[in-house]
Amino acid sequence: HSSSQVRSHPSLASGMSDLQMVLSDTTAASAVTGSAIAASYNDQIRPLLDAVDRLRHLKVTQEGIQLPTIVVVGDQSSGKSSVLESLAGISLPRGQGICTRVPLVMRLQDDPAADSPVLQLEYSNGRVVTTTEANVADAINAATAEIAGSGKGISDAPITLVVRKRGVPDLTLVDLPGITRVPVQGQPDDIYDQIARIIREYIAPKESIILNVLSATVDFPTCESIRMSQQVDRTGERTLAVVTKVDKAPEGLLEKVTMDDVNIGLGYVCVRNRIGEETYDQARVEEERLFKYHPLLSKIDKDMVGIPVLAQRLVQIQATIIAKCLPDIVRQINDRLSRSSTELDQMPPDLNNVADAVREFFHILKLVCASLEKILVRSEFDEYPDDSHFHATARIAEMFDRYAKKLPAQIPKGSDQLFLMEEMRVL
Ligand code: GDP
Ligand code: MG
Repeated sequence: HSSSQVRSHPSLASGMSDLQMVLSDTTAASAVTGSAIAASYNDQIRPLLDAVDRLRHLKVTQEGIQLPTIVVVGDQSSGKSSVLESLAGISLPRGQGICTRVPLVMRLQDDPAADSPVLQLEYSNGRVVTTTEANVADAINAATAEIAGSGKGISDAPITLVVRKRGVPDLTLVDLPGITRVPVQGQPDDIYDQIARIIREYIAPKESIILNVLSATVDFPTCESIRMSQQVDRTGERTLAVVTKVDKAPEGLLEKVTMDDVNIGLGYVCVRNRIGEETYDQARVEEERLFKYHPLLSKIDKDMVGIPVLAQRLVQIQATIIAKCLPDIVRQINDRLSRSSTELDQMPPDLNNVADAVREFFHILKLVCASLEKILVRSEFDEYPDDSHFHATARIAEMFDRYAKKLPAQIPKGSDQLFLMEEMRVL
């Protein structure tokens, strides 16, 4: 798809419509004229996202098939959840301490017919809970407690949050626990390793796009999340940076994102998230104002600022990785399917009556006898090349053989006493 189609995504159009006062006329105009193309774009991408989602539910990653995924990483309190909140326009558990303790798969779906957002949580093998915008934070916390315990522990079993809302971009993102160096009260000592393992599991596959959330208030090269994503994506070709809290540290930001000291291949997008009790719409207006009028922030290229730009970039990236990965995924699934079908064909037939069952039973018995004879008598282990358990049985058989040869030597000479009677009795 051309970038013009992506650019005119309806979520951006409607998200912006609230902001027309502060937006330039040209942007608003192109958003409106593009909406028909955008709708057809949606029609095309939605079934693909559905397919990827269903595959995720079928846990194909456990079969070694990687799915195209946008993974959100960042140091603790860098603003990961806030960025997702801004993209989805809903409230997520935010704040200090470790809030995200399990991976949260967030599926955003634009639904022009939805008057109010429809939210659904899916977790623990098919549990589905419908919730509301006001309760979603509590529902996520409750689901987290169910999966990872009520303490401060973490888990790699994901929760899926489906958000159907008018004007959100069609995106699926995975929010991961933030990286903590020092365990807080009640956290296991190896918390850093546990989190690092989960993050690596999600960002290592080349099918994953890494959305690296960096706070403007810190020095980027010192970020753990940068170190970690560089380990799996040295050149940064699948890393996109989101810089949060620009309102707190506008000084030097332009230099930081143009110098690119940390190899971000897909570029930087600077954002300002919801602060305190602001509504989502207020936050977008404030963000717009900030990047338009702030003496330092207004100097940053408009292609690099704001949640609408971030949403557009992500939709574009998502379309690209899906297009790139799907053919290979189809091939891998077909491979697995034909392998499993072959295995299935080798399974015993259905047994519907006693005669069949008895025949099958004797057949199995014969196979077992043949196996045992091979192993115990002829010492042929080709049926169990990797199973040392069977080999050990054979070794014991050998030992018994040797013992049997040694025994006659121990019979008391010239005695008519019975020998080993007690042992035989026990046996
Ligand atoms: P996470 O731990 O990475 O998920 O971070 P959170 O999203 O929970 O954010 C940590 C804190 O930073 C929260 O108190 C947010 O309100 C705050 N925060 C996030 N983004 C911004 C921003 O753009 N500006 C300001 N001023 N605060 C932000
Ligand atoms: Mg969080």
